Amino acid sequence: AWLAVMRGCDNFCTFCVVPYTRGRERSRDLIGVVREAEALAASGCKQVTLLGQNVNSYRDGAHDFADLLVAVADVRGIERVRFTSPHPKDFPDKLLEAVAGHPRICKHIHLPLQAGNDRILQLMNRTYTRAEYLVLVARIRRRCPDIVLTTDIIAGFCSETEAEFAETYDLVQQVEYHSAYIFKYSERKNTVAARKFADDVPDAVKAERVARVVELQRKISLNKNRALIGQVVEVLVEGDGKRADQWRGRTDANLITVFPKTGDGIKPGSLIPVRITDATVTTLYAELV
Ligand code: SF4
Repeated sequence: AWLAVMRGCDNFCTFCVVPYTRGRERSRDLIGVVREAEALAASGCKQVTLLGQNVNSYRDGAHDFADLLVAVADVRGIERVRFTSPHPKDFPDKLLEAVAGHPRICKHIHLPLQAGNDRILQLMNRTYTRAEYLVLVARIRRRCPDIVLTTDIIAGFCSETEAEFAETYDLVQQVEYHSAYIFKYSERKNTVAARKFADDVPDAVKAERVARVVELQRKISLNKNRALIGQVVEVLVEGDGKRADQWRGRTDANLITVFPKTGDGIKPGSLIPVRITDATVTTLYAELV
């Protein structure tokens, strides 16, 4: 189940409408969120995803996002807690400790990059540099070596040159995300970018940049998925696969996994170990162990 824990955003990335449409950041109180998680658990829900436009800037008095995450993960009956979407500026060690150390907090962090060039990052008002982002990735991986990282990328932001885009491509190659959402820049009304910067990268160039980085990411995703073949992982069953004789579920790291309906007593909500036997860019295939 989805559990909204905060709304709005104070970051004002120049391409984004959220601060205008959803307003400033407002967090719910921690006790209220925990009560809702308890009610969800009592109704049979095993996985919750904490939601917010800028979820890791959550704050309720003295409680920060790490406190909230642990409090929800400690609710009896909740087996997995995820969160989305965080901003790279709010990853204190305490939050990494919580992700790395709590058995029911999923080992997956979505870490939106947007661009890998400092001038573009500054134009976007992302508030981190390429070097700072890479330091954060290294810090996350040092603390939690088996973490799965995913990201968002915008290609063809206002005035982005070929050399600047090449730095985004290079960063994707360096970090090796497990998967990525890759978009062409598209102007949103009333944003700073729409008011102050010309949307001057030709559409065909944007499309070609997206295609190039998508192609790179597909290779990385396939390699990462194939590297899992032979491993035993726990899958939370969500329902039928595309074929009626298959179950479909997700690993702790949020990877879609499909396996034959051979076992007894398995149903949506079951948490079961499976062995990965094959993999594509987007899907793991498995068998019961
Ligand atoms: S992209 Fe995310 S962090 Fe930036 S303004 Fe929009 S919601 Fe906030």
